[in-house]
Amino acid sequence: MSYERPADLARALALRAEGGRVVLAGGTDLLAATRARELRGPVLDVTGVAEMQGVTLSAEGLRLGGAASWTAVARAPLPPACAGLQAAARVVGSTQIQNRGTVAGNLVNASPAADSVPPLLTLDAEVELVSLRGTRRLALGAFLLGPRRTALAADELLVAVHVPAAALAGQGAFEKLGARAHLVISIGMAAARLVVAGGRVVSAALAVGACSPVAQRLGAVEAALVGRPLAELGEALDPAAAAAALSPIDDVRADAGYRRAVAPELLRRALLACAPAPETAL
Ligand SMILES: Cc1cc2nc3c(=O)[nH]c(=O)nc-3n(C[C@H](O)[C@H](O)[C@H](O)COP(=O)(O)OP(=O)(O)OC[C@H]3O[C@@H](n4cnc5c(N)ncnc54)[C@H](O)[C@@H]3O)c2cc1C
Repeated sequence: MSYERPADLARALALRAEGGRVVLAGGTDLLAATRARELRGPVLDVTGVAEMQGVTLSAEGLRLGGAASWTAVARAPLPPACAGLQAAARVVGSTQIQNRGTVAGNLVNASPAADSVPPLLTLDAEVELVSLRGTRRLALGAFLLGPRRTALAADELLVAVHVPAAALAGQGAFEKLGARAHLVISIGMAAARLVVAGGRVVSAALAVGACSPVAQRLGAVEAALVGRPLAELGEALDPAAAAAALSPIDDVRADAGYRRAVAPELLRRALLACAPAPETAL
């Protein structure tokens, strides 16, 4: 089996353009899906690509390199808006999975239960897709087309995830529900990011995962929160509107009715976790 682990993006893109190679990051989805002891066919391992490393903050915002592990995300000194993303990073699989697995791999694998998606949606994240033909950026919502389907072209690599500086305002939170506390795929999860001023909601970003083919933002529910006083936050979230926006399915983890019932509560908990303590809510 031919195994290539290039050190730079130019070489990685050239190998990708040749076609026929499976892209490998942490391998935590890929090997599980292979159902064999080893990957078959030529492999393009992207974990050594210099341009895909790191978790970095700059004036433009946050950049997660395409080879950045969940552990790197969890340990990075990030603003409170990223608290939901970092909470998700700490509950993906186990420590071993977090050390090997990448956020980019989680996105490209495009599971409806991918834990990175709701918090990244609340951060208005974009993916940077690069090939020898050029670079394009897509909003995360436009990249994820359905279960196991993305807009990634056969010659592209997901080189980075970007969060614009404007979306790094406020406080984020993440709530995950599984059949047990650890090492579990989500039955449902919710992420929130709240910007508050003068004791009232300036803006709210809410997203739910594992309750529709692709995790989604709840725009109408968000809009209804704007201007509401913090003291009414719990009641301001309309559970019926939240449930109506979802289209859960029955699967081995839970049935659709259960998901529809728990999703608004997960959202409410995430939202309340974003609210500053009363004495600091100025
Ligand atoms: C025991 C176990 C527990 C798990 N628990 C969770 C959990 O709690 N929550 C959760 O969301 N997931 C979970 N997962 C799934 C998995 O760990 C994550 O989705 C992880 O983030 C995948 O990243 P990876 O780097 O291992 O991807 P890989 O397996 O290397 O790749 C996944 C897919 O993405 C492609 N790919 C990877 N990187 C790139 C890139 N940069 N550009 C283009 N294509 C790329 C690969 O070709 C492949 O199709 C679990 C998996 C296991 C085995």
